[in-house]
Amino acid sequence: MTHKVLVLPGDGIGPEIVTEGAKILQCLQQEYGLNIVLEYGLLGGSAVNALGEPYPAETRRQARAADAILLGAVGGPQWDTLERPLRPERGLLAIRSDLALFANLRPAILYPQLAAASSLKPDLVAGLDLLIVRELNGDIYFGQPRGIRTLENGEREGFNTMVYRQSEIERIARAAFEAARKRHRKVCSVDKANVLEASELWREVIERVARDYPDVALSHLYVDNAAMQLVRAPKQFDVIVTGNLFGDILSDCAAMLTGSIGMLPSASLDAKGKGLYEPIHGSAPDIAGKGAANPLATILSAAMLLRHSLNEPEYAERIERAVGQVLDQGLRTLDIMAEGMTPVGTQAMGDAVVAALVGD
Ligand code: NAD
Repeated sequence: MTHKVLVLPGDGIGPEIVTEGAKILQCLQQEYGLNIVLEYGLLGGSAVNALGEPYPAETRRQARAADAILLGAVGGPQWDTLERPLRPERGLLAIRSDLALFANLRPAILYPQLAAASSLKPDLVAGLDLLIVRELNGDIYFGQPRGIRTLENGEREGFNTMVYRQSEIERIARAAFEAARKRHRKVCSVDKANVLEASELWREVIERVARDYPDVALSHLYVDNAAMQLVRAPKQFDVIVTGNLFGDILSDCAAMLTGSIGMLPSASLDAKGKGLYEPIHGSAPDIAGKGAANPLATILSAAMLLRHSLNEPEYAERIERAVGQVLDQGLRTLDIMAEGMTPVGTQAMGDAVVAALVGD
């Protein structure tokens, strides 16, 4: 069966890093017979420039027809003054919601070669391997009503609504428990049930779903404590499951434990395993066009794509091994540089991963 992958380079460093990600998939096709066809499309600022909207109808058609999507990143200062519906980030929210991508898997893995890059002491983070499962379609980001209104006394007020339906909590809980079964069988659910009713229901539903997974250990933490534990003793976690808002913040915090956001992939999955794969970082306008971006997060996103959507875990492992090898060889982009090393550029890093793949 031929796998159809839609590639969306996006904005800023997006096209540079996606070129390297696509190169890796093409290498697997040529060298090891991976049956894949790549199609390209527009999302974000590049789509606004070309077609006047961040998630054009043609991209929607391509995305719906694809088995999986590889995305670079979207956004940049040149689009920040546009009215909200035209902003690049709206394109990202639109594709996530159009494809019902509700489960955001964000691994935070610290490669032993990069232990010194973390802001925490190496013994706290060496061997770190945790997975944050963030709900992506609900919560305060989508809840109605929302807006800015003027009160009777003339004062302005901004307001949003935190809302979670039982079915939404249940499906993300199942995604987390299933993921834990492929790992160390521990799930920590993060909420704010001492203050928020939405969290009270969250906890109730998570506990109910947990009964279907007696082989997985469940614990709960309030989000403030979870943030503290993440920087105090991050290795206590296996899988963390949480809502959209808390997950947004905690996953960035977990990412920094590993030293560089240039290393971390992510997946956003629907109920059938179709997914959008992207590095966790943004479009890094400050280094765009300089050939300095780290492409490894995108390359590792391609590995996740093979594992989770295309059901090709052996190809995913090949990529992950190749990335380990280039780190062993001492190759570093600027963001993961240590003293005494010479940095390599985006393309050279991609070429080194290809060479490691071919030599495997
Ligand atoms: P950012 O992640 O783009 O950059 C933060 C810092 O990390 C910058 O100094 C950047 O140079 C560095 N960095 C990021 N990726 C790197 C890589 N691969 N290699 C080396 N260094 C890297 O975050 P930001 O500056 O807050 O946002 C820039 C733009 O990206 C904004 O328009 C924002 O809305 C957008 N954004 C998009 C996404 C997405 O597409 N999923 C996510 C976050 C931010």
